[in-house]
Amino acid sequence: MTIDLEALYIDLHRHPELSFQETRTAGVVTQRLAELGLEFEEGIGRTGVVTVIRNPSSSAGESGEGPVVWLRADMDGLPVEERTGLAYASTARGVDPAGTDVPVMHACGHDMHVTCLLGALEKLVQTKDEWAGTVVAVFQPAEEYGAGAQAMIADGVMDRFPRPDIVLGQHLTPLPAGTIGVRSGTQMAASDGLTVMLYGRGGHGSRPHSTIDPVVMAAATVMRLQTIVSREVDPRDVAVVTVGSIHAGLKNNIIPAEAKLELSLRYPDDEARERVLEKVERVIRAEAAASGSEQEPVITTDHTLPPTINDIHATAQLTLAFDDAFGQGTVVDPGMFTGSEDVSWFAREAGVPLVYWFWGGVDPQAYAEASAAGTLERDIPTNHSPFFAPVLQPTIERGVDALVVAAREFLGDRRTA
Ligand code: ZN
Ligand code: ZN
Repeated sequence: MTIDLEALYIDLHRHPELSFQETRTAGVVTQRLAELGLEFEEGIGRTGVVTVIRNPSSSAGESGEGPVVWLRADMDGLPVEERTGLAYASTARGVDPAGTDVPVMHACGHDMHVTCLLGALEKLVQTKDEWAGTVVAVFQPAEEYGAGAQAMIADGVMDRFPRPDIVLGQHLTPLPAGTIGVRSGTQMAASDGLTVMLYGRGGHGSRPHSTIDPVVMAAATVMRLQTIVSREVDPRDVAVVTVGSIHAGLKNNIIPAEAKLELSLRYPDDEARERVLEKVERVIRAEAAASGSEQEPVITTDHTLPPTINDIHATAQLTLAFDDAFGQGTVVDPGMFTGSEDVSWFAREAGVPLVYWFWGGVDPQAYAEASAAGTLERDIPTNHSPFFAPVLQPTIERGVDALVVAAREFLGDRRTA
């Protein structure tokens, strides 16, 4: 290895950056790409970086670029104050979009994602005589905003670089280091964030009959929304309707004119999304009407994330490849996560399969002890925790090798050509 991956990881971990501010990180990436002799373009979707390894088959009659495999890593940190106590813990600070000074930490492992993708690119460069095709490495900004993939697409990433035949990516998770978690079908939920404005008619708190009270309207709406999952969604399906924020009024004797709700919705697929969204809108409009509101509620979508759906055939093929490379028992089914990701925008935009897997970064002995004691939830820090602290090895090695094995599985093989 030319790149000292442990030193690279520690450097990235010490210098996390908030979403769409990953300029130092992008600089580290481009420096390493240059050292590997790879050309790149930067500033894609604001701070994204893309490099292409072209390795067309030389056999007569073949043309084109061969299979095009996209490997994606996200780069952003989070506004979290690190409390791991590690020698290389972050003390970085940043300014969030509201202009607030905040602590910054790689609490989701995106520093590990970048490290492993650079390590995988070096291995793929070194083994070019063994494979044929095209590797496109995508270093994406702002996954934590759910906005980076779309920003890169809006910036023409699909047209400026070879379009993918398959999109691959990986995420660190609190499994034992060395273990890979992947499942066919829905791996992560789809999600929408909605803002709802409810309109009443303000007035004096002593004269409610002359007003239309948006506080009562909002309260009734919140309670009725709870019945969507409990009464209208098939109990065998997964859905979440959370009202995470409710604001109305300033003073006890003034009935305000409006109320604001903020909702987080989760579902496993597009059909469930359509059904739940329709029910949410029906309840909001009906409760406004029941209150006698004279102005229709306004429902705004703040963000939309598609479900992360792993292609059935590609996932089965890749699971076998992981088994071959790492041994039986390495791959587990982690179940569906109700968290969401923006990686699948790339596969959706191109209309191609996606496989997105998780891999562990927890000290296997600590994991085994917590598992035996039934204290996994308490003792093993999850992503976004201030205590999130993946062990360096075998996490880095397995992350690099998983990307290489996966890329090679879907590229051409020069040795058998
Ligand atoms: Zn995260
Ligand atoms: Zn993440």
